[in-house]
Amino acid sequence: MKVFKFGGASVNSIERIKNLGPILESFKADQLVVIISAMGKTTNALEKVAASFFEGNKITALSLFHDIKTNHLSLAQALLTKGYAACELQLADFFTEVEWLLHDNPVRDYNYYYDQVVCLGELLSTCILSHFLNEAGILNKWVDVRDLIRTDNNFRDANIEWQASSEKIKSLMNQEIGKSSNIWITQGFIGATDDNESSTLGREGSDYTAAVFANVLDAESLTIWKDVAAVMNADPKIFLDAVTIPVLNYTEVIEMAYYGAQVIHPKTIKPLQNKGIPLLVKCFLDSSLAGTQIHNKLIKNLPPIIVLKPNQVLVTMTTTDFSFVGDHHLRELSGLMESLHLKPNLMQTGAISLMISLDDQVEKISRLAEVASGIFDVQIEKGLSLLTIRHYTNDTIEHYLADKKAVLQQRSRETLQFLY
Ligand code: ASP
Ligand code: MG
Repeated sequence: MKVFKFGGASVNSIERIKNLGPILESFKADQLVVIISAMGKTTNALEKVAASFFEGNKITALSLFHDIKTNHLSLAQALLTKGYAACELQLADFFTEVEWLLHDNPVRDYNYYYDQVVCLGELLSTCILSHFLNEAGILNKWVDVRDLIRTDNNFRDANIEWQASSEKIKSLMNQEIGKSSNIWITQGFIGATDDNESSTLGREGSDYTAAVFANVLDAESLTIWKDVAAVMNADPKIFLDAVTIPVLNYTEVIEMAYYGAQVIHPKTIKPLQNKGIPLLVKCFLDSSLAGTQIHNKLIKNLPPIIVLKPNQVLVTMTTTDFSFVGDHHLRELSGLMESLHLKPNLMQTGAISLMISLDDQVEKISRLAEVASGIFDVQIEKGLSLLTIRHYTNDTIEHYLADKKAVLQQRSRETLQFLY
């Protein structure tokens, strides 16, 4: 059993959807669970529908929704001939679910409505894809993942109930797989509560869903199909000398995600690591490329890994009475940051001052400055960038930092962080 995950970019056009056929075909000897995201920017578009509805702009919400509906229907029409009517019928059910809701007035909180609307993207994409593949002779079974993934009702960032979900996944799998087909097509990112209300797992959560399936089903591997050749040591759009990394381990991937590399959703790793399931990152544009293999073993000789976080603010807080920075200062500050959902990217304490580099979320930063100014003198410096280099060497430091002036820097044995 293998688990595959295809992201929004792999299903954002007719050509790309058609391209999945040969990839799946080449694995026909395997049992596959295929997790798919919403097409292209559908999730963003649905977010706008939910926001308009909640702000009371029913007409806007319905018209934005109408556009999403038309796009999906015309895509289905372009992809399908015999199977179009059946697909349209199934899509119509999903559309109706949301349209009913949009005709009402909001009485519950925003996150609840967000999930009821935004979950649609994955349902639509998988529905079209499943019909298309069946018509192309790649027989598969479409499954509503809301029947399998149970979550709590922390809408928009729901937590999976492992016990219940894993029982449901296993029992359906035992009944179904191999009977009608060897391929299951289902959705990432979404689930349902005990009350059968839709929930979502947080943006970009499809990788995580795929990892959950891989864990529960003891899959031999999870493959995440992307539009890049492999995981790279830096963003190739910024660093022209970026290279692919053929082998990585889970720890390194977690570190990369922590420092801001947009490789794989950080929640994805634990379910795989717990069972030692290898994670493969492959390119859907050219499946013959080797990609990256991620496992549990120790790896030597990794290239330097470079992560650039632009748009940083340095907040410097100095005690007003010339006293040393003490535990109570740190406690108050971390409480404040927690309440504002701010996460420091780099932090350093001195005798009478504290320096923190944060993403420039304008409102939150000014709120932080406002409250902190009750305890400290606060200074703010904007327009900075944070460069992190893992496995740095003298050469890499020279290469990446020679022409830059540090505002703050920190070094451990493995990692160098440089704010400039
Ligand atoms: N469609 C969702 C998003 O865009 C989930 C995902 O793609 O992983 O965030
Ligand atoms: Mg995505």
